[in-house]
Amino acid sequence: MRDEAIKKIFKVAQDEGRNFLYEHEAKELCAHYGMPITAIKIASSEDEAVKYADEIGYPIVLKIVSPQVLHKSDSGGVLINLKNADEIREGYNKILENVKKHVPGAVITGILVQEMAPNGTEVIVGSTKDPTFGNTLMFGLGGIFVEVLKDVSFRIVPIQQVDAAEMIKEIKAYKILEGVRGMPPADQEMLVKILMATSKMLEECPEIKELDMNPIIVYEKGARVVDARVIL
Ligand code: ADP
Ligand code: MG
Repeated sequence: MRDEAIKKIFKVAQDEGRNFLYEHEAKELCAHYGMPITAIKIASSEDEAVKYADEIGYPIVLKIVSPQVLHKSDSGGVLINLKNADEIREGYNKILENVKKHVPGAVITGILVQEMAPNGTEVIVGSTKDPTFGNTLMFGLGGIFVEVLKDVSFRIVPIQQVDAAEMIKEIKAYKILEGVRGMPPADQEMLVKILMATSKMLEECPEIKELDMNPIIVYEKGARVVDARVIL
């Protein structure tokens, strides 16, 4: 059963006439299903951004929150590795400037202040609705593995634990997840957990038309959903 908090996320988007969830809403949804997300806060002023950055701890990532900007880095709407209050203030204004230039007339809802996830193995989990089979679930490694090599695995939702484990092992680059050449292995138990949680979320939330968690950064122990996009 979905709880009220989940219903509310969709209702707010619906009431505002949006056909998508902002990153922080999509991440809240993921968190409700037990997925590990980055710490996040929405700032509506420079001072507030500094206050939240202090609370979360440095280094910090700042991102644009705007109904007109779905692909944030394309519009200069993502700044990573900000190390102190001065860099937060400068970054806050830089993002506003970048977005105004790239998307004239963009409405600025706020600036997302978030924990910077350390480096690790980048994976992506996604979903689209198939007219015949319903929700599909996709898994792959991030970056060129998906974009150039199309090295991904698919299942129809719902999946069981064995399906999740198979999806992970099926990709051609699986060896990378086991750890190669000084790169530590990735927490496959956590990946199974994330795939299962995503399947459950898709089953319980028919509002989701498309889902894209890109990237999820995975460590030897644990992971962080660093970006999430949901189309309704
Ligand atoms: P976009 O909307 O452009 O996909 P993302 O939120 O994915 O924006 O940010 C772009 C890139 O910045 C990510 O692919 C990732 O490499 C990096 N990044 C974003 N957020 C974080 C974070 N919290 N910690 C570490 N890296 C991040
Ligand atoms: Mg992204």
